[in-house]
Amino acid sequence: MDFQLPEEQKLFQESVRGFAERHLSSGALKRAHNHEYPYDVAKLMSEQGLLGITIKEEDGGIGGTLLDAVLAIEQISQVCPRSADVIQAGNFGAIRTFAEYATPEQKEEYLPGLLAGEKVVAVGMTEPTAGSATTDLQTTATPDGDGFRINGEKVFIGNSEYADVIVLYVRFGPGLGGIGSVLIENGMEGYTKGAPTPYLNGERWVSMFFDNVYVPKERVLLGPGGFKKQINGFNAERIGNTARSISLARHAYRLARDYALDREQFGRPICEFQGLQWKFADMKVKLDAGQLLLYRAATNADRGLPDPQETSIAKLFCNQAGFEICNEAMQVMGALGFSQDSLVEYCLRRCRGWMIAGGSLEMMRNRIAEGVFERRFSQRPPRVATAEAAE
Ligand SMILES: Cc1cc2nc3c(=O)[nH]c(=O)nc-3n(C[C@H](O)[C@H](O)[C@H](O)COP(=O)(O)OP(=O)(O)OC[C@H]3O[C@@H](n4cnc5c(N)ncnc54)[C@H](O)[C@@H]3O)c2cc1C
Repeated sequence: MDFQLPEEQKLFQESVRGFAERHLSSGALKRAHNHEYPYDVAKLMSEQGLLGITIKEEDGGIGGTLLDAVLAIEQISQVCPRSADVIQAGNFGAIRTFAEYATPEQKEEYLPGLLAGEKVVAVGMTEPTAGSATTDLQTTATPDGDGFRINGEKVFIGNSEYADVIVLYVRFGPGLGGIGSVLIENGMEGYTKGAPTPYLNGERWVSMFFDNVYVPKERVLLGPGGFKKQINGFNAERIGNTARSISLARHAYRLARDYALDREQFGRPICEFQGLQWKFADMKVKLDAGQLLLYRAATNADRGLPDPQETSIAKLFCNQAGFEICNEAMQVMGALGFSQDSLVEYCLRRCRGWMIAGGSLEMMRNRIAEGVFERRFSQRPPRVATAEAAE
């Protein structure tokens, strides 16, 4: 077992870091407080080959590994945490699921704009009555001529305000086997959005309403029975989410470390107080442990999709550790850490969201426990026995 990155990946890390220092270092604080999607950054990243890292070369991507994409998130986050959103949107989640399962015609239509950083894709699963219980989703796809009519509502979707294309989870029929997905574009008749609501992390989301929206059959991504594939693809999103948490924690930790070396109170640098040294020791252990779990899940996935169990373990640990580290970094930096003059409070707010998004900490624990006991635990209420029901 080798804990060192191969030379090629070290060079990749250096080049991404150099790019970030040159182009993203100035304006990092301002970008963190702007809710608009940074299209200028996306364009630069596209030119640098940082979008579509894990997408096959024949589809216009770079043909790299999931770990390469994780390394890119880490390096960008160290310089400009907000810009790492673009790496996440351009490599993990919706775009990854799309590239995995789209037809050649669908790829030809959507991938060029997405990989050029001109367009954004979102994934629409969550509904007012289907959150953690994704399979309770009620948005329907009803056959109509050569296509389908879509009716329903989606909420809390990341990038929903400006996404050009949405991988929309829909129900073609009853049960798990009835779930699949279609591609929705801005401007389709019957597709409207509500007013934006800000999240604690500074992002905004809008309700998405689908009122008899016609989708031709060419825009079906995965038909009935596609749910399992969609969730497998979603594990790549979870790796992105995990990488963001631990990377932002590292950003906050470094700011706090520099501050502790410089800041003097009671006539000495505050890093000389044991009460703070122990905080840093704990933060460092969590950072290292999180990174190892993340690298294990990403490396084992290689060019395929990551293992659900390893992904859940990494996500649970890094989401939790990320939040705790940012919180401790804030404490070390006192009022400055709590102020929007420093990126520490931004890192904390972003990390908080990932404890809910992409499968909550509790759902990750449920998944891990199933692995431990090698059996499935239904979260549904127990079925009432027939005799009892007849009473
Ligand atoms: C920043 C952010 C970005 C998001 N982006 C997207 C996106 O791009 N696309 C998308 O479709 N959705 C997105 N979401 C929505 C997200 O997927 C849901 O919020 C999440 O699945 C939880 O659903 P819920 O909020 O309805 O909470 P609920 O499911 O109502 O859960 C409430 C609480 O109960 C707990 N709980 C529920 N069931 C169980 C159980 N069986 N065992 C133990 N505890 C349980 C949960 O963990 C949670 O703490 C995003 C959310 C956030 C915060």
